[in-house]
Amino acid sequence: MPKKGIHANLPVIEQMDLYPYAFTNESCRKSGPIQVTIPPHVHTTDKLFQEMMINMGLKPIKDPYRGNVNRTWIATSSLDPKTWTQSYSAISYLLPNIKHPNPTVLTSTLISWIIFYGSEGNENQTAMAVEFIHNYKKYRVNINKEVLLSTGSIESPHILELSGIHQPKVLSKIGVDLIVDFPGVGENMQDHTLVTIPFELLPDHESLELLLDPEYAAKAKELHARTAWFPLPASGFEGTSKLADNFEAEHAETKDPTVSPSCNLHYFENKAVKFARRMKEVEPWKSGTVKEAYPGPKCVTDDDLQEVIKDYVGTIFRALSLLYTAGSCSMLPREKRGVVDPKLKVYGMTNLRVTDISIIPLHIAAHTQAFAYVVGEKVADIIKAENMARN
Ligand SMILES: Cc1cc2nc3c(=O)[nH]c(=O)nc-3n(C[C@H](O)[C@H](O)[C@H](O)COP(=O)(O)OP(=O)(O)OC[C@H]3O[C@@H](n4cnc5c(N)ncnc54)[C@H](O)[C@@H]3O)c2cc1C
Repeated sequence: MPKKGIHANLPVIEQMDLYPYAFTNESCRKSGPIQVTIPPHVHTTDKLFQEMMINMGLKPIKDPYRGNVNRTWIATSSLDPKTWTQSYSAISYLLPNIKHPNPTVLTSTLISWIIFYGSEGNENQTAMAVEFIHNYKKYRVNINKEVLLSTGSIESPHILELSGIHQPKVLSKIGVDLIVDFPGVGENMQDHTLVTIPFELLPDHESLELLLDPEYAAKAKELHARTAWFPLPASGFEGTSKLADNFEAEHAETKDPTVSPSCNLHYFENKAVKFARRMKEVEPWKSGTVKEAYPGPKCVTDDDLQEVIKDYVGTIFRALSLLYTAGSCSMLPREKRGVVDPKLKVYGMTNLRVTDISIIPLHIAAHTQAFAYVVGEKVADIIKAENMARN
């Protein structure tokens, strides 16, 4: 758990009583503006799931935010327990500071590329300007100090690529002039994969089917409009692939900044689904559910499973990624295809940093949102320290 950024609140008594092994005061560090806690409603399937995981040999852990997450635990949500509404960066970081004279926020804006001052191949490049599109018009903003590129793991390397910071062979293919030969940009991409296994539940469990009752559905809708949580679990498993399962590269297909780059993260080779399917044999999940609703007993071989995984994209869940893409501008030595140094500066650039989760060199076994806040807090500290040292 980041020391700054997050204000962790103990769960409600209902949750603490049900999972006495799962929470400790130690998890509650209260130094940042993002409120996190455990949602108040205890689902019957949550309890089944936790006990089944323990029976599969995964011990419960009381304080996952100390670094050891290789066990079973209940993750927090970004929820404010005073209002049960979502807590997030715009309301916690931006709005309290919006009247400060420094920030100008421009929404619906697409950064096209960064313009550098320096001759081709020169390692000491300086970002001079950033070009962007707003309301179908192109604009250019000059840089007095530095650029913090924080457009996420897919777009940050894409923007560097469109700006001429990449491998010559990739740039020549899309007609972009080389500024610096940078083999690491867009490489080393990693993700957590996801396949949902739906189960038919015994009638005594709450499931999404309750929404078929119009009265229940109206109450749930009203609750969801007022708060950020929904009183029902999805009746399925979420299987996350083992750490750093997939490493790949992403590259621009054209120099048009409105066209997304392409990458292949081997999503169809998801292995976590095999682990998730073993769970149906383990108590108390086994006797608490009726059957695996999909893919079901006809899916036996690896080839069957491969087809099932492909099927997910078009039918059941329409996603194979947890959308935790990282690693494409890794903080690694440059000769190991790194892009940024420990101060998040792009190697060889005088005034350009990457400040999003693309800097993760080896994927973390955790949800990535908290890490994004860590990067923001950390870069703020680095810049403040550098400014103080200069003055
Ligand atoms: C649907 C979904 C659900 C998720 N659920 C969870 C969860 O439950 N828990 C969790 O921990 N994590 C979750 N994540 C992952 C988490 O949101 C990301 O890991 C995190 O937001 C990454 O932060 P970032 O700063 O690296 O990039 P982002 O948050 O993606 O920020 C990049 C920003 O740059 C903007 N941008 C991109 N390109 C350009 C451009 N060319 N010009 C201008 N702006 C641009 C984008 O619009 C975006 O606002 C989820 C992600 C998704 C998509």
